[in-house]
Amino acid sequence: MKTWIGMSLNTQILLAALIGIFFGLLLRLYPDSVFFNQSIYVLTLISGIFIGFLKMLLVPLVFSSIVVGVASLESGHQLGKVWKFTLMCSFVTMSLSLCLGLMCAHIFEVGKGLDVAIFQTAMQQHQPDVQSLDASSFLMNFVQNTLINPFKAFSDGNVLSVVIFAMLIGLALVYGGARFQSIRNLSQEFFDLVMLLVSWVMKLAPLGILALLAKLIAKEDLSILSRVAEFAAVVTGTTIFHGAIVLPLLLWIFGKMSPFTFFKGTRLALITAFATSSSSATMPLSLKCAQENLGVRPQIAGFVIPLGSHLNMDGTALYEAAAALFVANLMGLDLHLGQQIIVCLTAMIASLGAPGIPSAGMVTMIMVLQSVGLPAEAIAILLPIDRILDTVRTVVNVQGDMMVSVVVDRYTRTDENALQVRFDS
Ligand code: ASP
Repeated sequence: MKTWIGMSLNTQILLAALIGIFFGLLLRLYPDSVFFNQSIYVLTLISGIFIGFLKMLLVPLVFSSIVVGVASLESGHQLGKVWKFTLMCSFVTMSLSLCLGLMCAHIFEVGKGLDVAIFQTAMQQHQPDVQSLDASSFLMNFVQNTLINPFKAFSDGNVLSVVIFAMLIGLALVYGGARFQSIRNLSQEFFDLVMLLVSWVMKLAPLGILALLAKLIAKEDLSILSRVAEFAAVVTGTTIFHGAIVLPLLLWIFGKMSPFTFFKGTRLALITAFATSSSSATMPLSLKCAQENLGVRPQIAGFVIPLGSHLNMDGTALYEAAAALFVANLMGLDLHLGQQIIVCLTAMIASLGAPGIPSAGMVTMIMVLQSVGLPAEAIAILLPIDRILDTVRTVVNVQGDMMVSVVVDRYTRTDENALQVRFDS
């Protein structure tokens, strides 16, 4: 996508990251000077505006994305078995990817050994949350903090609570059927509207990333850069492992399809996912590959893949869980078991709430950080590498959708006739 200055957004982000690094290095030459202080003030202002807009859109985006996603189970009761299988498979693969993400972040100790001071002020505001969440009381906290008045949840930015409310609304729309058609249309339009706003905010991304990166480099120990590179390598490696080993193994066991057939039949969709970083943009190709090359029945592919491009995101879940641990490690915090479970739950919900567009995971990452008391501002560390990591995680997201369609197709085939009747009804 070209923009008004004739460069694609990706090129602008790359250029901005380079300028940010250069400017940050320049600032390091003049510590404590007027130039330094004023520049930091301006950079803080610019990055504050960018992150502020991201935070502003988080709740509407997650809410509308989940309502629309769940409401698309429209034919839910007609297709009982199909949608139950779809949800179950998505849940299993996403849980595995989350565990893998956390495990690898632990094994490679991503971000350990540094104590990043830049977010100390933001951190202090969150400190009580971090202290109060011990392993035994997290369930009680979870219930008390999430089952609350939705309007309070909206105004407090309590995303978990918003997610639960959105799921309930989505389910009610499914069960209410035609009675709530106008609310369903309204939700879809509201979602489209929020997506438009997100695309506007993304236009600010180059400037925001420049400011965040320059500030980080000017004020922090430069070894943070090598930690970020290490993290990027670990996440990319783990995501590729999930896509190349875990998912094909599950496909082989449960879908009775060889990985070779799968990759050969889906390569067009996978390459497109890599190039566009968008499961939604890739969806028509995923559908075509699943139907024509993997032999998934059109009615199954037509149900599982659009739903999956909204809700089933293994790559995003893996990334968000690992990234939360990385940020906590960078700040010298040890997340205990209860907090890690919260990270997993929130990362799963965050990936449900992330629409299939480039960098959506970056917006919903804020909720994962906040769930364990880490400041939203910490995404500054992740933003510069997000566009690169997004390519690989989108490939795995799309792969997961097609894989689930094969498995669901196989398990519902015995009911073919009954299913056909239900589809036609
Ligand atoms: N770009 C991803 C997708 O479209 C979502 C994300 O940002 O993680 O699947």
